[in-house]
Amino acid sequence: MVSEQIDPDLPVFGSVSAERMEVIKDPAVLVASQTGTATVHKETTSTFNGDPMALANLDHPRMQLVMIPLTDNNYLSWSRLIKIALGAKVKLEFIDGRCVMPEEDSADYDQWIRVDCMIRSWILNSISKEIVEAFLYASTARELWLELEERFGESNGPQIYRIQREISAISQGSQLVVKYFTKLKKLWDELVCMQPIPQCTCKNCTCGVAKNVSDLACSNRLMQFLMGLSDDFDHVRNQILMMEPLPSVNKAYSMILRVEKQ
Ligand SMILES: [Zn+2]
Repeated sequence: MVSEQIDPDLPVFGSVSAERMEVIKDPAVLVASQTGTATVHKETTSTFNGDPMALANLDHPRMQLVMIPLTDNNYLSWSRLIKIALGAKVKLEFIDGRCVMPEEDSADYDQWIRVDCMIRSWILNSISKEIVEAFLYASTARELWLELEERFGESNGPQIYRIQREISAISQGSQLVVKYFTKLKKLWDELVCMQPIPQCTCKNCTCGVAKNVSDLACSNRLMQFLMGLSDDFDHVRNQILMMEPLPSVNKAYSMILRVEKQ
C-alpha cells in the first residue's frame, strides 16, 4: 500500500527534488486503508470524485505544497500557489470556509478533523522556519489561513506602489536601450511576483481567457517600454504602434536594437 512513488495528485511547480517528494510511511494512512475505517470517504489513488473529505493513499502530513516557502515578502504569489495546489486536491473548501466542521456527534466529525489536520500540516510545511512559529496555534486550517491573510495580506501594497511608480517614471534618458530594457524587465518581474497574472481555472484553458489576459499584460508592457524610449526612436516607435496586431515587447525591443545599431 505504501510506496515510494510520487503522489500523482501533488501539483509540481518547477522541479521538485526526489528527496522532497519522498513519501513517508504514515501509519495513520496505513491503518485507515487496512481496516477500512475510511469507508465513508473512500481513499483513492488518483481521483477524489470531488469529495473534499477524501484523502488519497499517498497524502501524508509531511507533504509540502509549494517549492518556495512563505517569507516576509512573497505572500501574494505564495498564497496563489497554495490555493492552486489545494484546489487540485479538492481541499480549497477547508480554507475558504465552505467545508465547516461537523457537529462532534456527526459521523463525519473524525474524518473532518483528520483532513483538516492534514491540510494544516501541508500549509505549515510551506512556511519558512523563521515565521512558522507564530502560526502553530491556529486550531483549524481555515483559522490558520485567515491569520496568514491578516498578517501578510495587505503588506504588499506599499511594494506594488513602489514598483508601479518606478515603472511609470522610468525612461531611457542617455542609457543604452539594453540597459533601459533590462531595468524595466526587472520591474515587470517583481510586479508579477506581487500581482500574479490571473490563471484560468478551466483545464488547459480551452475558454481562451488566459491568453486574452496574458495578451493584455503584454500590450501594457509594450506601451510602457515605448513610452520611456528616447525621442531618437520616434520613427520606429510610430512604426511599431501602427503594426496590426501589435508585436510582443521582445519583438519591439529587437526592432529598436536594430535601429540603435545603425
Ligand atoms: Zn479558460
